[in-house]
Amino acid sequence: MLNIVLFGPPGAGKGTQAEVLKDKYNLVHISTGDVFRFNIKNKTDLGLLAQSYMDKGDLVPDEVTIDMLKAEVEKNNNANGFIFDGFPRTESQAKALDEFLAQKKESIHGMVALEVPENLLVERLLKRGETSGRPDDQDESKIRNRFNEYQTKTAILQDYYATQNKYYGVNGVGSIEDITQRLCDVFDQL
Ligand code: AMP
Repeated sequence: MLNIVLFGPPGAGKGTQAEVLKDKYNLVHISTGDVFRFNIKNKTDLGLLAQSYMDKGDLVPDEVTIDMLKAEVEKNNNANGFIFDGFPRTESQAKALDEFLAQKKESIHGMVALEVPENLLVERLLKRGETSGRPDDQDESKIRNRFNEYQTKTAILQDYYATQNKYYGVNGVGSIEDITQRLCDVFDQL
């Protein structure tokens, strides 16, 4: 199996790149944000709960997110591997993921991080907000709050994986194709 955490701040291009890479490497792409949005659209209990956090740009509580992630992995028992997009976002989530995979005699092979300067991220998110319909992309104060959540809770995961020698930074500025190629160069080593 090949299990990758595709990492980076909001707007770094994780979802776009995961869609290409999942086909190239025959992996299952799990985006926790997409699963939450699907639940919001279908007005499930999980969706109603997640929405109150997402609307503000806050993280959804760990326990709810971890349970949901595990259920998504369990749905894909025969997978060749996973691209985790938007998960883990806190140290507790990272630890829970490691323990969960260890029970399956599996592990994360690498955290591959898209590195993009913040001014470019705001520009990309506001542009995406014009077409995505995502309320959290349409308001600069919500975007700033998402960055704040990222800086205070998520960015430390770089160290979490670096200490395991699993951190790979990739320049996330350029054309979609160029960035895909840089990511493939890393995936091919894992
Ligand atoms: P994304 O689509 O990855 O930008 O996520 C959109 C929103 O979903 C985030 O701002 C959070 O509110 C929520 N979310 C997605 N993944 C997670 C996670 N791993 N932990 C907590 N909240 C999450």
